[in-house]
Amino acid sequence: MVSRVIPVDPFDLVIFGGTGDLARRKILPGLYRRFWDGQMPRDAHVIGAARTAQDDAGYRQFVREAIETFVAPDKRDAETIEAFLAMVRYVAVDATGTEGWDTLAAMVRPDTIHAFYFSVSPSLFGGIAERLHGHGIATPDARIVVEKPFGHDLASARELNATLAHSFDEHQIYRIDHYLGKETVQNLMAVRFANVLFEPLWNAQYVDHVQITVAETVGVEGRGAYYDKSGAMRDMVQNHLMQLLCLIAMEPPSRFEPDAVRDEKLKVIRALDPVAPGDIVRGQYRGRDDEPGYLEAAENPDSTTESFVAMKVHVSNWRWAGTPFYMRTGKRLRARVSEIAVVFKDPPHSIFGEDGKRRGNVLAIRLQPDEGMTMRVTIKEPGPGGMRLVEVPLDMSFAEALGEHAADMPDAYERLIMDVIRGNQTLFMRGDEVEAAWAWTDPVIAGWESRGDRPLPYDPGGAGPEDALMLLHRDGRRWREIEG
Ligand code: NAD
Repeated sequence: MVSRVIPVDPFDLVIFGGTGDLARRKILPGLYRRFWDGQMPRDAHVIGAARTAQDDAGYRQFVREAIETFVAPDKRDAETIEAFLAMVRYVAVDATGTEGWDTLAAMVRPDTIHAFYFSVSPSLFGGIAERLHGHGIATPDARIVVEKPFGHDLASARELNATLAHSFDEHQIYRIDHYLGKETVQNLMAVRFANVLFEPLWNAQYVDHVQITVAETVGVEGRGAYYDKSGAMRDMVQNHLMQLLCLIAMEPPSRFEPDAVRDEKLKVIRALDPVAPGDIVRGQYRGRDDEPGYLEAAENPDSTTESFVAMKVHVSNWRWAGTPFYMRTGKRLRARVSEIAVVFKDPPHSIFGEDGKRRGNVLAIRLQPDEGMTMRVTIKEPGPGGMRLVEVPLDMSFAEALGEHAADMPDAYERLIMDVIRGNQTLFMRGDEVEAAWAWTDPVIAGWESRGDRPLPYDPGGAGPEDALMLLHRDGRRWREIEG
């Protein structure tokens, strides 16, 4: 198979927070990889903009180290790195003052695509937007990229949207949720809407339930104090898990275009029932041996913030009435895995007697590790001995099917940044979507607060609190194993 990389047009990308952790680990190595693959043109400019006083040479050294640390050795050589660094520049700016803005205005070329990546604390968004506008850098075609968290609740998300709307139109604002940049997530849409096979079965008549699991093995160390103000519901469910739920549950959009897709996702969020208190379980991991537990890592012995949450959710519309969606996410679990499983109903009648009483088909969509999909089907066990049935996976793992090209798949950040340059908002969240997600999340959190709810402790290395298993057991179902 021939790789088909289509180069994007020349651009000036300004990274506010260009010396930060996200720029170092994701944005800069990602840009370099797109350059290596021939997607990023040689006349693009990457401009780091941050508080540190340094010159271009100092910043290029930072970028070089980021590439050497985070790009695989088989995707780098001295010549390519030098060519990439030649496109890198730096300007010291103060997002809340006047320093550096005239210099930045002079650096940005008039005739290219302008993209501004706000890789800084959201408290600086307003100041940057205003200054870009004031210095005439924010042309009508300019794009801005903003990172999570997009607000802390509905009120703050609205405020943030209003702040950005002051200087930019919605079509210029790219709110990143890197889960949407994953190859498998886009493939989910291809599988659903480019085949005739799945869509007729994609409803409450044939789907028994859906499971969405985002499990991590790491705890909150290092960012415990920050995480403690947030928790799994805000940090993971409101954005990543809800986006995945939307892609599974949405109606077919009329076209694969930004507003058509985002309209359908918004309808799903608006169709979500409020979660009943009995349908949600929160947890906090315990310590083990010399690993600190959540309370210790968060440096808050009285914390009621959850490091795990599991819930049963209903999408109240004609397609999904009666099919529950179970979602769970947590830290310090058995394995690092992100997976969606669409569990189909059993066949209505077994012609094979007792042996035919098999579980239904399962379409498992794995985001990490090993992006890919498997479909569990029931077949006859080969050989003599009568009609013995076995369940086998129909494997659609990219690594096997697409050979070496699967290894070359750009990661989510790279793909999304190239979409920004192309001006394609399909895989970015619209302002009203984010607000609708908070409008659904806020009452759940307010309920915990008003009831003085405390998360249940759970042991690290497992699947969260026992009660989370009961969420499904009481419905006669079970979670899939958390395995990497
Ligand atoms: P960081 O603290 O490592 O870097 C912050 C950057 O902002 C630095 O470059 C700093 O110079 C710059 N900065 C701070 N104050 C400034 C000012 N007044 N004027 C100009 N520049 C200023 O932060 P980070 O981890 O890179 O995160 C950046 C953003 O991305 C945050 O909003 C964060 O929530 C979000 N985010 C980060 C990650 C991650 O993995 N690091 C993941 C998802 C989202």
